[in-house]
Amino acid sequence: MTKINAWAAEKAAARLSPFAYTTGDRPGPFEIDVRISHCGICHSDLHLIDNDWMISEYPLVPGHEIVGTVQAVGAQVSSIEVGQRVGIGWQRSSCMHCEHCIAGEENYCAQQQATCVGHFGGFAEFVRVDGRFAFALPETLSSENAAPLLCGGVTVYTPFRLYDIPAHARVAVVGIGGLGHLALQYARAMGCEVTAFTSTPEKEKELLAFGAHRVVSSTDEAGQQALQGYFDFILSTVFADLNWMQFVGLLRPKGRLCFVGAPKSEVRFPAFALISGAKSLCGSVIGGRKMIRDMLAFSARHGIVAQTELFPLERVNDALDRLRRNEVRYRAVLEV
Ligand SMILES: [Zn+2]
Ligand SMILES: [Zn+2]
Repeated sequence: MTKINAWAAEKAAARLSPFAYTTGDRPGPFEIDVRISHCGICHSDLHLIDNDWMISEYPLVPGHEIVGTVQAVGAQVSSIEVGQRVGIGWQRSSCMHCEHCIAGEENYCAQQQATCVGHFGGFAEFVRVDGRFAFALPETLSSENAAPLLCGGVTVYTPFRLYDIPAHARVAVVGIGGLGHLALQYARAMGCEVTAFTSTPEKEKELLAFGAHRVVSSTDEAGQQALQGYFDFILSTVFADLNWMQFVGLLRPKGRLCFVGAPKSEVRFPAFALISGAKSLCGSVIGGRKMIRDMLAFSARHGIVAQTELFPLERVNDALDRLRRNEVRYRAVLEV
């Protein structure tokens, strides 16, 4: 047996405390053991700690933006070697044979499992995972700054590919936090015209540096009038309830409003707002294995990484408090 030191919530909404668990001596045929160096903190970790989605199992070790070094590999693992640096994201496994898995879109598999739901996640010294869902990291990306790409990065990269957003598109990103600051960078690197909608316009200088061509207040509806009918694609990362009908009004005909963050309340407005102009509401969730590999290659090519605040693992509660207060610029990362 191998003992693994971690930090866990013992019950819903609890502060994390030191927690240890054991695994068998050897990884299973397709499994790998990873010595964790860094783990990003995603907003989903807060939702899991608080059991907002009613799927959490306690003790809960959060963490699904993991970077570390492979310590041991199972007998069937051929693509990953001991000593290699890998990243692990939200998805832990899938059935590997349904139509979605065969299409390389394992993120739609009905049998998929998550890294830190019913399994112990990355706020720990080690993790044992399925090696088929671990990804070699490009050498040019630092572990601290690349960790948030594994969930946050692929979450905002995928919709651009899924919905074939062309380089000449006018793109808006709503909410510039952990997800949004990466979305600005991807949209700019893809060649798009990029607008940042934020509730804290005092961040303007930073948002321009991330790639925005302009910064607009997300709640100043009068200030948005000049942008009526302007955007091909609006990507929303926020949990706040905004005036979504107003944002649909900012779309050009055939434009899309895409959610990767879930607002607290239902999204409600008259269907006529979509009918006139043939507009769409849509969503997107993480990305399959091929998409993650593409995202990492694209990120390395264009030097896209997260701007991070680094915390030692023992200060995980301080980091979570800052995230709850919406103070993190722009992604908290734990160093193990
Ligand atoms: Zn996440
Ligand atoms: Zn499947």
